Amino acid sequence: MTTIDDRLRAVRARIEAAARAAGRDPASVGLLAVSKTWPAEAVREAAAAGQRTFGENYVQEGVDKIEALRGLGLEWHFIGPLQSNKTRPVANAFDWVHGIDRLKIAERLSAQRDESLPPLNVCIQVNVSGEDSKSGVAPDEAAALARAVAGLPRLRLRGLMCIPEPTGDDALLRSRFALLRALKAQLAADGVAGAPQLDTLSMGMSHDIEPAVAEGATIVRVGTAIFGERGRPAG
Ligand SMILES: *Cc1c(COP(=O)(O)O)cnc(C)c1O
Repeated sequence: MTTIDDRLRAVRARIEAAARAAGRDPASVGLLAVSKTWPAEAVREAAAAGQRTFGENYVQEGVDKIEALRGLGLEWHFIGPLQSNKTRPVANAFDWVHGIDRLKIAERLSAQRDESLPPLNVCIQVNVSGEDSKSGVAPDEAAALARAVAGLPRLRLRGLMCIPEPTGDDALLRSRFALLRALKAQLAADGVAGAPQLDTLSMGMSHDIEPAVAEGATIVRVGTAIFGERGRPAG
């Protein structure tokens, strides 16, 4: 039987190979283990295998897991769509939010983040594929939103995030990831948020780790390749 430990090793090996192929330091690519739909025990198993950062998509499920695993000192990233009436628990239970695509959500997170906590790390989600149905700001609106978010006191703008359309076309995927990289470089050149802290490109999932790392991903968000197909136990 394949364990979470085995799968984590395999994913780390993929990241390392992709980084080396791109002439990048493998340590410059963070692995976010996406544990949505999996029980706290699966997260505990991954943590025992050395994984420290986890991603969740659903507010209540995520908050429950964070509570259950409080003693492990893990870092939690909210990566799902966020409705404005659910911002408060996210603002206070999570360390990062990746999918900011509206100023209103960012303003609420900033206002609700407890003073006793460090600023909440956030990424702006960009719709790099131009699909009507996907969330994310249009590429030409990213700079304006980034500027506004960077001015909010209880948030720390860290970079950009994207979810390209599903495709087996590697060249197309690379062009989507390259667009995100170029947008972040432009933000840094314009001095938005202060260049040193604008250090994050959150891009790449189980099926497209390699093109994302080739285009500069600093966080890949990987669920299936670590925990198994959602709705089915790993094995
Ligand atoms: C579910 C999810 C992932 C992980 O996807 P896998 O294909 O299971 O690796 C990454 N990012 C986001 C935003 C997700 O919702």
